[in-house]
Amino acid sequence: MSKTVKDYIRTIVDFPHEGILFRDVTTLFADARGFRMAIDQLLNPYAGMRIDKVAGLEARGFILGGAVAHQLSTGFVPIRKKGKLPGRTIAQGYTLEYGEAVMEVHDDALLPGEKVLLVDDLLATGGTAEAGIRLIERLGGEVVGCAFVIDLPDLGGRRKLEAMGMEVHCLCA
Ligand code: IMP
Repeated sequence: MSKTVKDYIRTIVDFPHEGILFRDVTTLFADARGFRMAIDQLLNPYAGMRIDKVAGLEARGFILGGAVAHQLSTGFVPIRKKGKLPGRTIAQGYTLEYGEAVMEVHDDALLPGEKVLLVDDLLATGGTAEAGIRLIERLGGEVVGCAFVIDLPDLGGRRKLEAMGMEVHCLCA
């Protein structure tokens, strides 16, 4: 039987902490067929839609989002952890399992009214994606879709994003 996207993803036990099962997409990225399949499937629901920019969440969202943006012939916007972007930024805090974190985007990364596809490797609680959505919206952008390779449904991210009115697309759980 032919391989699915999920078949290319491995799980690392006890990373980064004991008790965590870390979904490692580097094995998906490293495989020519797997990587192309993932990019094609991430794009699938958006055929024919207007998308002006792709935004990727640090760090694996840059790898996926860059390839998606190239395929769509759009620009790419990095949404980064605090202190990494060189220009003037706006910041958005969010809650992690243990503590708080901040994501930032350049304040001139979008034009008001631009339609944005948000991309990341994995949706867990949805906190990171929510921060990304808020940043895009604060710049006047409109998030037309949120695309992830992996959904961890027990952690409620999809529900959280859908409650914000988002369209959520995931390739596997
Ligand atoms: P959330 O904010 O709880 O939805 O966590 C999602 C963010 O954490 C994404 O940016 C993911 O890249 C990262 N993340 C959480 N768990 C994993 C994992 O098991 N594998 C890869 N990334 C993960």
